[in-house]
Amino acid sequence: MLEASEFRVAIVGSGPSGFYAAEALFKSGAVAVDMFDRLPTPFGLVRGGVAPDHPKIKTVSAVFNRIAKLPGFRFFGNVEIGSSIGVDDLRQHYHAVIFACGAERDLRLGVAGEDLPGSHTATEFVGWYNGHPDYRERSFDLSKEVAVIIGQGNVAADVCRILATPVDDLKKTDIADHALEQLATSRIRDIYLIGRRGPAQAKFALAELRELGSIRDCNAIVDPRDLKLGAVCSVESVDQAHESIARNLAIFRDFSNRPLLHRKSIWFRFFQSPSAVLGGSRVRALQVTRCRLDGEPFKQLAIADGTVTDLECGIVFRSIGYRGSPIEGVPFDPHRGIFPNVEGRICDGYSVQRGLYAVGWIKRGPSGTIGVNRADSCATVASLLADKAHLAALEKPHSRNLQYLLNERGCRPVSYDEWLRIDTAEIDAGRARGKPREKFTRIENLLSAAGIASHAR
Ligand SMILES: Cc1cc2nc3c(=O)[nH]c(=O)nc-3n(C[C@H](O)[C@H](O)[C@H](O)COP(=O)(O)OP(=O)(O)OC[C@H]3O[C@@H](n4cnc5c(N)ncnc54)[C@H](O)[C@@H]3O)c2cc1C
Repeated sequence: MLEASEFRVAIVGSGPSGFYAAEALFKSGAVAVDMFDRLPTPFGLVRGGVAPDHPKIKTVSAVFNRIAKLPGFRFFGNVEIGSSIGVDDLRQHYHAVIFACGAERDLRLGVAGEDLPGSHTATEFVGWYNGHPDYRERSFDLSKEVAVIIGQGNVAADVCRILATPVDDLKKTDIADHALEQLATSRIRDIYLIGRRGPAQAKFALAELRELGSIRDCNAIVDPRDLKLGAVCSVESVDQAHESIARNLAIFRDFSNRPLLHRKSIWFRFFQSPSAVLGGSRVRALQVTRCRLDGEPFKQLAIADGTVTDLECGIVFRSIGYRGSPIEGVPFDPHRGIFPNVEGRICDGYSVQRGLYAVGWIKRGPSGTIGVNRADSCATVASLLADKAHLAALEKPHSRNLQYLLNERGCRPVSYDEWLRIDTAEIDAGRARGKPREKFTRIENLLSAAGIASHAR
């Protein structure tokens, strides 16, 4: 139990940025950290975002486990800040609050038909196959032969791989069982990855792009005409500071030279801007408008040339980026979808909000891999430590008061030890099926695996 005299920090969110912030705080010396997450489980997108066929990346959770075992750390899963308790409650009990709550909402495409049945966000699909409780009850109609994914980044690549990979290969991963069952009935044969700009601007990381060309029994198809670069793209492709462009182009060239050997195919479609999702009671086609590029190197915009085509399909996934959600009591930038901050200190206009900090995707927007969050969290913690003397002078009530408050609000937090019970139960359930883990995907099942009666939420 923390003492009233300790320097106490609350971290909202238990994804990579939250854990890296905790690690940096502990390295600085005596401090107590309470980490809150709205889910009963920790690790944010490492559990609910990273694709099931990328198990190595998930091993970063071992690092987070070590951080969680450091003296002074406590986990409060199943506590949503802004709903179970408010930001004011945290400000009352802690010297500082670090927001590490990620960017969980999707950007809107802003075209007609976007919300037709059969048009989904990548977040829904990713959350569904990863067993995120928010998306447990979704279902996806995979009964038609053509799927379209809007977006050419790593999340689009994940969605594409899960649709294209033979179910026998997915069976050995920690993919949620309900998803596996539905994917086993999939009739999808052709998957289109649509981008407004060209192959030089596609955002795939090298490894992710390469993987799309090595899925068992699946072609990766690029039209060689799309690889004839204009003058500006040629400049971009030889720029030393952007060598990933030349590498990606080499992979696209390889794809464009391959014979078509399989029934299933991934089609890369460049210079196509989605202009409407068409259909009556559900999606029938994606209407795309041909684009050309205009502008200086690295600032080229896609300009629609008016040539419209309907791409017939049975399902559409929109993977065009994320934004954070506001939490009452914290300034929010609605344009960027982040908590506005200067060096991690949350600001309202020019006024710094004393004791409030941001890390990770809610600080800088939804970009960067897991590792990028480490330096970013360290930078915010450096700002916090520079303010520490001032913050530590503020009297804070004993943290046991917060426990009373949670009880009063009918909220039953999940401790780290209780999460470890869930973890063990999932691994055991997975072993029985030849999988690394079988996730519990409903809140009540997670709570009961933690040994908590679900009426005690
Ligand atoms: C689909 C997808 C796949 C990815 N795959 C990879 C990959 O393979 N490799 C890689 O390096 N990077 C990958 N990334 C990027 C990586 O996941 C991010 O860099 C990282 O997760 C960002 O960390 P974060 O802590 O800012 O946010 P998150 O990981 O999103 O964590 C935010 C946490 O805050 C919690 N939370 C939100 N609101 C509240 C609230 N009000 N109260 C309490 N808790 C709250 C959430 O439940 C969540 O646990 C992927 C990203 C996505 C979207």
